[in-house]
Amino acid sequence: MPVVDVGSVHEAVEALNADVDGRRLIGGGTGLMLMARSGFFVPETLVSLRRADDTDLLDIRLIGGVLRIGALCTLRDLELDPAVRRHVPTLAGVLHRVSSVRTRNVATIAGCLAHGDPKMDLPTYLMALGAELVVASTAGRRKIALSDFFVGYYETVLLSTEVIVAVDVPTIQPGQFTEYRKFTGTLVEDWPLVSLCLNLDEVEGAIDRAAVTVGALGSKVKRLPQLEAWLRGQGKPEITTASNLKELREVVESEIEAKDDNLASGDYKRKIFHVELVRAVRKWAATQPTEALR
Ligand SMILES: Cc1cc2nc3c(=O)[nH]c(=O)nc-3n(C[C@H](O)[C@H](O)[C@H](O)COP(=O)(O)OP(=O)(O)OC[C@H]3O[C@@H](n4cnc5c(N)ncnc54)[C@H](O)[C@@H]3O)c2cc1C
Repeated sequence: MPVVDVGSVHEAVEALNADVDGRRLIGGGTGLMLMARSGFFVPETLVSLRRADDTDLLDIRLIGGVLRIGALCTLRDLELDPAVRRHVPTLAGVLHRVSSVRTRNVATIAGCLAHGDPKMDLPTYLMALGAELVVASTAGRRKIALSDFFVGYYETVLLSTEVIVAVDVPTIQPGQFTEYRKFTGTLVEDWPLVSLCLNLDEVEGAIDRAAVTVGALGSKVKRLPQLEAWLRGQGKPEITTASNLKELREVVESEIEAKDDNLASGDYKRKIFHVELVRAVRKWAATQPTEALR
């Protein structure tokens, strides 16, 4: 496959607009190559930003309460970055369990999100944190909340002529609790069979705000508003009483579809989700507020 190296984001947008059907942006190529090798999707020409002058694409910067991560940062860059470790401390642990170091050395954050694969780890984690994408096109730049980004199996709202230039990740604040859990069938760093992320703000021992996401169950990663509403106002340690956990199970059963939108994933995934969610909730109930940043 021929690769067109562009010198800037502006040139990438122009190149993608020149021939919408046959051209495709490439990040690390790990997702695209798997698809091309299987014959599932073979782009005619790849457009690459690896030689672009825009240094922002490789930058990780703190802007107010947000960490702006350049689109070309690899998963390994993020795992080792001191600013990430300080301001989004749970991210390194999540990344440590994504595939092998070889894959993490080349896979980029933009490729990881643009791929739209519901089985991937970072979308579930970053959506619960409230991440947003910064996207460039001929019309300028726009922001897309990750919770509005995925529309179906390998489908996102991103146009084929748009380029993700950065990902804004809110920093984790004192009193915030973030727990990503993935259940794998074999190795811990394997693709998740089911994943979830719980992101809570705690005020005086009770949940003030909750974001809960689910991955690898259904055609897209998504938030779970019924569970979030149930969690709000729950205090510790009462949240783990038998009656509360029974109620939690009922909410899971009503909100998590036993049958996948496109794939027959089955009831067992809902059961795994419930077990992992209870583990995350118990962990929060046992955590002191000051521990949240560790
Ligand atoms: C052996 C192996 C094991 C893996 N295991 C796991 C795992 O356990 N957990 C997990 O989460 N993932 C896993 N992955 C998937 C991996 O995380 C993804 O393949 C990777 O994140 C995709 O990033 P990339 O930069 O290589 O994307 P690419 O393959 O380059 O691109 C993927 C998609 O994103 C688009 N794209 C890329 N950059 C941009 C941009 N700047 N703007 C707009 N669109 C863009 C491309 O056009 C393409 O559609 C595994 C992959 C491999 C090969």
